[in-house]
Amino acid sequence: MLSLKSKKPLIISGPCSAETEEQLMTTCKELAATGKVDIIRAGIWKPRTRPGTFEGVGMKGLAWLANVKKETGLPVGVEVANAKHVESALEFGIDLLWIGARTTVNPFSVQDIADALKGVDVPVLIKNPMNPDIELWQGAVARLQAVGVKEIGLIHRGFSVFGASPYRNNPMWHMPIEMRRRMPELPMICDPSHIAGNRDLLYEVAQKSADLNFDGLIIESHINPCEAWSDASQQVTPRALEQLLDSIVWRKKDTDSPEYAKALEQLRGQIDNLDAELFAILAKRMGVAEKIGMVKKENNVAILQTNRWSEILDRAKSQSQKLGLSEDFLIKVLDAIHVESINHQNNVMNK
Ligand code: PEP
Ligand code: MN
Repeated sequence: MLSLKSKKPLIISGPCSAETEEQLMTTCKELAATGKVDIIRAGIWKPRTRPGTFEGVGMKGLAWLANVKKETGLPVGVEVANAKHVESALEFGIDLLWIGARTTVNPFSVQDIADALKGVDVPVLIKNPMNPDIELWQGAVARLQAVGVKEIGLIHRGFSVFGASPYRNNPMWHMPIEMRRRMPELPMICDPSHIAGNRDLLYEVAQKSADLNFDGLIIESHINPCEAWSDASQQVTPRALEQLLDSIVWRKKDTDSPEYAKALEQLRGQIDNLDAELFAILAKRMGVAEKIGMVKKENNVAILQTNRWSEILDRAKSQSQKLGLSEDFLIKVLDAIHVESINHQNNVMNK
């Protein structure tokens, strides 16, 4: 059986969709020729957001994939969204299955897939759900583990966005980071194609995942990307994929260099001291907030003073550049402090 941990970084590539046997075969032969791709991907059942667009070639694509496997010698993977897909894919000797973002959101579908995987030895990758719900993502893993699937990996493909954004799907990096903390034994693969939604952003997203010590990449490639029947703006030619992969710097998880250990220990000591100072200052600030609570109580004045709060926020915004901290970050910190401060005042007022 194909192992997801056999190589790091694990590189998966192939078209968003299998369109014709020729398009699939030509793309995959070129990918194999780069020597940099470990697994071929292609969608044949395509869950498009809106009907009327290309929804995949269906079953006949499985035979095409089996031929690709024979011609290139590379293992092949497809997306499955129900039990029937699983059974058909296994019949054709598909080596890897993945559960798409639109399926991970639905526990009924995930359970249906899990039931079809009982007693089967095939690796399965689980994409994050469309919405940033970590429990749903972890729940999908638990459903597969419960039926005995041994090789499970995760794919970070970003989360739906509303309104203007440089990304098709917001990466929200803290989500895969939290998932890794909860399930450190599962390989985490980044899908820059669906996060970026366009070719120009692929490198930046892929490099960030390498910096975060992800285990691999799944990137869509097409022999003629601009003419692709799905996701045309995010696919790259096999040649461009090769260049992209060459430009990514993969970091080591760790090193046993004594200088590194010493430098890091010293810096971490500074961080620990600063954290202690930060907490002490916060505690002191809450003490002052309680005194304010007392004064407000004596004068029977409401806790929330919107003008004062706007003044604090504006001051933080105006200082953000000088401090080298993003406005967004300062506001999040202040929001958290403000809520805690209101709670402290509340306690004093209602004692
Ligand atoms: C895909 O990988 O082609 C796909 C449909 O992705 P997602 O499930 O991430 O939208
Ligand atoms: Mn796609």
